[in-house]
Amino acid sequence: MLSYFLDIIFPPVCPLCRVMVMDGILCPKCRGKLLSKRITPPFCALCGIPFIAYGCDRANIPTRLCGSCITEKKPFKEARSAFAYEGAIVDAIHRFKYNGAVELAGYLGRLASDGTEFSARPDVVVPVPLHKKRLRRRGFNQSLLLAREAAKKFSVKVDCLNLKRVRDTDAQANLKLKEREDNIKGAFAVTDGKAFGNKTVLLVDDVFTTGATIRECARTLERAGAEVQVLTLARTLIN
Ligand SMILES: [Zn+2]
Ligand SMILES: [Zn+2]
Repeated sequence: MLSYFLDIIFPPVCPLCRVMVMDGILCPKCRGKLLSKRITPPFCALCGIPFIAYGCDRANIPTRLCGSCITEKKPFKEARSAFAYEGAIVDAIHRFKYNGAVELAGYLGRLASDGTEFSARPDVVVPVPLHKKRLRRRGFNQSLLLAREAAKKFSVKVDCLNLKRVRDTDAQANLKLKEREDNIKGAFAVTDGKAFGNKTVLLVDDVFTTGATIRECARTLERAGAEVQVLTLARTLIN
C-alpha cells in the first residue's frame, strides 16, 4: 500500500535518463541501447572476446580461440561477459557502483546471468572481493550484488567469506598492464584451504578491462584446487 502511494507521489524514473518508468527499472530507450551491446557468438571459447573485435566476419571464423588464448595460458577454464563495455552499460555500471543505484545491480546481474551459458554448472559463486577499507567506504561490494543473481540462476550458494582481499592496492586505472599485474600480485588469499578444492568456482566481477585483477583472483582460487569460470557484466573489446 505504502509503495503504491509512494509510486504516485514519486513515480519511478529511469536511473540513466530520468524519464518516468511505468514498468521495470530502465526506460525502453535505455534498455534498447543496453541490449544492443550484448555480446553474441561467435566469440573466443576461452576468454569470450567477440571475434568481431578482430574484424572476422561471422561466416569465416578461423579458430575457436583468439590469438591471446592461443599464445598465453589463462588461469581460468572459461570467461564470459554479457556486454561490450561501451555506451549505456558504462553509465549504468557507474551509477550502481558510485551513485548507489543498487536496484540497477540486481537488474543487470539478472540480464548478465540469464543470457550466459558455461560448459559446466558451477558448484559455488564467488565475487571478486573488495578490501575491507574500500568496502567500508563504498558500503557494498558491487560484485557480490551481481554474484547473487548468478547464484540464483545456477541454484548454488555464494561464498563471499573464503576469498579475501588481503592487501589494498592503489587504484589500477592509471597503471600499464605490467604494472597492474605487479601491483595486484598477492593481493588475494583463500582463508579456508578446503573451501574450493575440486570445485568449479564461478568468479564474478563487474568489468573485465585488462583482466589483471580477475587473473590474480583466478590464480589464487586455482592454487586452492578450484577450476575457475569467470562471469563479468561487461568487458572491453581488446585483449
Ligand atoms: Zn532511460
Ligand atoms: Zn580468447
